Amino acid sequence: MAETLIAVDLSESPYTNDKVHNRWHPDIPIVEWVNPGDDFIIETYDWTGGQIKNDDDAADVRDVELVQVHFLSGPVGVKGAEPGDLLVVDILDIGAKPDSLWGFNGFFSKQNGGGFLTDHFPLAQKSIWDIHGMFTSSRHVPGVKYAGLIHPGLIGCLPDRAMLDMWNSREKTLFDTNPTRVPPLAALPDGGPSAHMGRMTGDARNVAAAEAARTVPPREHGGNCDIKDLSRGSKIYFPVYVDGAGLSMGDLHFSQGDGEITFCGAIEMAGWLHLKVELIKGGVAKYGVKNPIFKPSPITPKYDDFLIFEGISVDEAGVQHYLDVHIAYRQACLNAIEYLKKFGYTGAQAYAILGTAPCQGHISGVVDIPNACATLWLPTDIFDWDLMPNADGPKRYLDGSIDVPLAPDL
Ligand code: ZN
Repeated sequence: MAETLIAVDLSESPYTNDKVHNRWHPDIPIVEWVNPGDDFIIETYDWTGGQIKNDDDAADVRDVELVQVHFLSGPVGVKGAEPGDLLVVDILDIGAKPDSLWGFNGFFSKQNGGGFLTDHFPLAQKSIWDIHGMFTSSRHVPGVKYAGLIHPGLIGCLPDRAMLDMWNSREKTLFDTNPTRVPPLAALPDGGPSAHMGRMTGDARNVAAAEAARTVPPREHGGNCDIKDLSRGSKIYFPVYVDGAGLSMGDLHFSQGDGEITFCGAIEMAGWLHLKVELIKGGVAKYGVKNPIFKPSPITPKYDDFLIFEGISVDEAGVQHYLDVHIAYRQACLNAIEYLKKFGYTGAQAYAILGTAPCQGHISGVVDIPNACATLWLPTDIFDWDLMPNADGPKRYLDGSIDVPLAPDL
């Protein structure tokens, strides 16, 4: 049995665990050291550190303190790792914590985080998903059940000073173009008490917290990529920037649709990862690696039949945009939601399905001016009922009750 290097107690605040942090900074101390070739287990909190409860009230999603996220376990040091190496990480397995066999999906309030379709779903809502071995289903979204494609939403190595400064500079430049926007254009360093800087203390902690990068976006080191196919069985190659590499991870998802469009998020859970690490010395230059590369798992849930929804870069108001895949994917998702509503789902339930189920998103065409074409691939076999169109029209399989609880108005 591999050794558990980092354990988390879900009954305790993550702020009491000094092997956890929620910012990126080169000076965050490494908490455990391993050798190339070692395998070991890392436990993680859910990304909010337990703020969301297994109940039928979305007030916790509405009131979530996003300044706290994401709680990561690490950094783990790998002996001999130096800047310019590639850190090879095999995800040998991932699972939920035995005392926490459930996950959550939600939509943040537009006033507090928002999401991909926040103009259509501006209020906080949530659904709870029970984990039955390799399958999941929800009391809030009837008629669907599927196998999990379990993955860490967030994993990567510590940045060095130059990389941290570059992140902060470019994100501030973007933020300053519209500093009052809701939701904001970027999450900048805040330096407040919510920053968990691991084992840093005193003045050093405060100075670092004020400039430490938030964990929100994916960046050159990987980070919060939210790639569903980075699942158990994957092999990832991370660029190393600091001595020891400093690998950290969290934000485990039991399942997710491409895009993690609901933002809160996939099926979010606490859990554990069984990892093995190796090094390729000088691998960054040898292979021309800028962002991580990875090989997916040999085992994935077998959902290979889809109903595919097209979207083009013409927005909801009918305005033409030039090859904008963001708008095209939004239209594909909205088209899928409208379709599912014909069978009795609420819009919220349909949105939750797209955010959690193993839906694929594809950039299908980006050259046919002026329209980009994106597609949303909805797996047909996750439904208890027949998803396909036919001459008799849609049969209402579901009662349309609003089972996803709606938080009170803000
Ligand atoms: Zn997540």
